[in-house]
Amino acid sequence: MKDYESYSPQSLLEEFIVSASRPVITSSFSVNSVVILDMALKIKPDIEVVLIDTGLLFKETYEFAEQLKSRWNINLIVVKPELSLEEQEKRYGKELWNRDPDLCCKLRKVEPLDRFLESGVDLWITGMRRDQSPTRKNLGKVEIHRLPSGRKITKLAPLADWDRKKVWNYVFKNNLPYNPLYDKGYTSFGCVPCTSLPVSDDERSGRWTGKGKLECGIHTFTEKEEI
Ligand code: SF4
Repeated sequence: MKDYESYSPQSLLEEFIVSASRPVITSSFSVNSVVILDMALKIKPDIEVVLIDTGLLFKETYEFAEQLKSRWNINLIVVKPELSLEEQEKRYGKELWNRDPDLCCKLRKVEPLDRFLESGVDLWITGMRRDQSPTRKNLGKVEIHRLPSGRKITKLAPLADWDRKKVWNYVFKNNLPYNPLYDKGYTSFGCVPCTSLPVSDDERSGRWTGKGKLECGIHTFTEKEEI
């Protein structure tokens, strides 16, 4: 494969989006997502933008997603778990996220995303960065991943070599909106029960704090092909 390390996020998105048959962006509506959306919508205004709705996201995130949807006319696809929260509680007991967060993430995030990616998606774009977490330090800008079914998919991380400062500079320079949770002190957020204010300089230190978990699983359930 070509060496894409020197490509800018815009040129990487341009090269891959135009040649994909079904490109999608998964978005947590974080500041990274906003940057990716701003760039990608200029290339393909109707690109599918996927929100994995666990039913447990912050109200600010739901409102911000709606705000961006109308402001940028986003083709927002909301992907939901098979089980409602009530059904999950009935089957697995109360507050599964406290007892078995890996299973909870599998049911509410990983399986819904897997089903969605299996519906013909060939390009998966994320806003991941290497400096976000030790689990992301070797992130490639372009990776080939195998879904559990064996089907291959291209995974793109155009901001892999950006840092937090560069992301915020882009947001301010381009006068982009951002999730109001940042103004409340959050540096990374997902579901309410598993998100707290950061406990260190590590921007993901407020996720599953004290549970020894760094990733929800959506970025680890596929198998990366070594090229
Ligand atoms: S982040 Fe927490 S509440 Fe959300 S799916 Fe994972 S374990 Fe469940």
